[in-house]
Amino acid sequence: MSTTTHAIAAPGPGAPLERTTIERRDLRPDDVLIDIAYAGICHSDIHQARGEWGEAIFPMVPGHEIAGTVAAVGSAVTEYQVGDRVGVGCMVDSCGECEYCRAGTEQFCVKGNVQTYNGVGFDGEPTYGGYSRQVVVKDAFVCRIPDGIGLDVAAPLLCAGITTYSPLRQWGAGPGKKVAVVGLGGLGHMAVKIAAAMGAEVTVLSQSLKKQEDGKRLGATEYYATADESTFDVLRGRFDLILNTVSAQIPVDAYLGLLRTGGAMVNVGAPGEPLSYNAFSLIAGNKALAGSMIGGLPETQEMLDFCAEHGIGAEIETISADDVNEAYERVSASDVRYRFVIDTATIGA
Ligand code: NAP
Ligand code: ZN
Repeated sequence: MSTTTHAIAAPGPGAPLERTTIERRDLRPDDVLIDIAYAGICHSDIHQARGEWGEAIFPMVPGHEIAGTVAAVGSAVTEYQVGDRVGVGCMVDSCGECEYCRAGTEQFCVKGNVQTYNGVGFDGEPTYGGYSRQVVVKDAFVCRIPDGIGLDVAAPLLCAGITTYSPLRQWGAGPGKKVAVVGLGGLGHMAVKIAAAMGAEVTVLSQSLKKQEDGKRLGATEYYATADESTFDVLRGRFDLILNTVSAQIPVDAYLGLLRTGGAMVNVGAPGEPLSYNAFSLIAGNKALAGSMIGGLPETQEMLDFCAEHGIGAEIETISADDVNEAYERVSASDVRYRFVIDTATIGA
């Protein structure tokens, strides 16, 4: 038994997305049925739908930035009630028992977390994501969206928000710290807002100055074009922390040169091709090059509460199901201001 719901799927790697229907399982005791209102389009959706990260499961219903309301709950669910405003991010299950799950860092589950889509559940069934009308998710993987944030501008927080909040917290973004955000896209614009709200001094490093006014409005005090080679001389040794959100290869050594002694560059951008660096770029100056993967459930809730407290949502362009393929093209061309969000009511009734 299951419920049929409308969805948008990529039939194969790189193929245009199209409307379809999928099955959602009947509620288990700890399940929550969510009527999805909005689903953000993350560049990770595009990487996976195009097969850029290697083997993937098709048909693929992408979407791990999900916001909606609870439509029904299983018999053992106590945290959520029908009508609650909720969100789901990149994971829908994990073992719950390993040291990482117990620490609330389910993304590092030793058995492997179950991704919201392009994954396989512990029941052996493929997972389908947020580009659909409804989803069934285990209660422990549901977050509460505070009343102060609209569901549309909250959806992107479930990936872009937590993926930038987590490393900014971990690496000490705050008063007295100079933080550079590389790439002003979906993740980048959230990083600017969140780092500024944490009290850091924020600089945007974008390919051009086209979005300079936006960057400053979002909270950056400085904005530089990386296409201008003099940028790398002007800013040499400037930053405590560089957060790289770029979806493509970048010249890592050039960016490491912008760090102060002891500074860190944290990579969240996930291009399919390897990044390389010269060992001396780190050795000279005791610099760190790190990565960061989304965030666990407790930290995701903390991020949502932080955003509500600081009046932070994503800057969005709401689109219909008909516009998803065009949106993919625009994101790939760095032509997004700053997150596309699908109004899922347009997918089908
Ligand atoms: P996005 O909206 O496309 O933003 C990426 C930005 O990078 C673009 O807007 C552009 O900014 C810049 N950029 C793109 N191509 C570039 C190039 N060739 N050279 C220099 N800069 C370039 O993508 P997103 O949704 O923010 O995702 C960014 C990356 O993070 C993706 O690879 C995604 O898969 C990854 N990601 C990782 C995690 C994680 O857990 N680590 C989670 C979510 C997403 P400008 O126009 O300002 O230059
Ligand atoms: Zn994402």
